[in-house]
Amino acid sequence: MSTANGHDFYGHSKYFIDNFSEFEKNYGVRGNFESLYYKYPTSEERWAYLSKHGTLMFDTPPGQTYLDLYKLIKDKNYFIISTNQDMQFSKLFPDEKICLPQGDAHWFQCGNPCHDEVYYAEEMLRNMADNIVDTRIPTELIPKCPVCGGEMEPWIRSYVFLEGGLWKDGIKRYQTFLNENSHKKVVFIELGVGRMTPNIIKYPFSQMTYNWQNAFLVRINQGEAPTPMLKNKSITMDADIAQVLHDLTSHM
Ligand SMILES: [Zn+2]
Repeated sequence: MSTANGHDFYGHSKYFIDNFSEFEKNYGVRGNFESLYYKYPTSEERWAYLSKHGTLMFDTPPGQTYLDLYKLIKDKNYFIISTNQDMQFSKLFPDEKICLPQGDAHWFQCGNPCHDEVYYAEEMLRNMADNIVDTRIPTELIPKCPVCGGEMEPWIRSYVFLEGGLWKDGIKRYQTFLNENSHKKVVFIELGVGRMTPNIIKYPFSQMTYNWQNAFLVRINQGEAPTPMLKNKSITMDADIAQVLHDLTSHM
């Protein structure tokens, strides 16, 4: 979804080159995903990257693919599950209709984690980003856990990721929606789900389509192969998501 929008987090994209060239120069990183998981020599440098990227995510308006999807489904009985962590869905869709099992960059958690709470990150991110010198923030701005004093972490999937209250609420909302609708006519729309975490969206969507009598699966992704097992219950489009969604809105 976001890649289709020109926000390519994986490659050496224009978005990366336009905004993060100083990180490429200092560390040799060549994309946002690589920069996110890069082992910076110091916390000050790591938070420079995290705060710059975090602030940009807050400031980036929703992309056209998201606007088109919103137009297409806003009046339906829908629910969104996404592994995207770039805040785009939250800019348009209400929180109660979204589940983000890989976390959400709006929030920080304790890095240990010593307690089950997340903290709204915007002010801390902006303050850090405003004070970056070269690729480093001042030590005193490193966000600290108010309980144990350890470093905070963005609330996104990592080996310390907090599957606490906020996470469980999201999963519960999603499961409730599935339970309430399993006997209705349901269309699963899989948009650009890659192969990194197929057990979150791809496999469950296939299984539910197979098992639910009135379910149908639509898969749209470049390079996507059809699913023979779901021959009569699915359509696979090896196509550009942005183009497909935009074309659909013109038929409304
Ligand atoms: Zn703590």
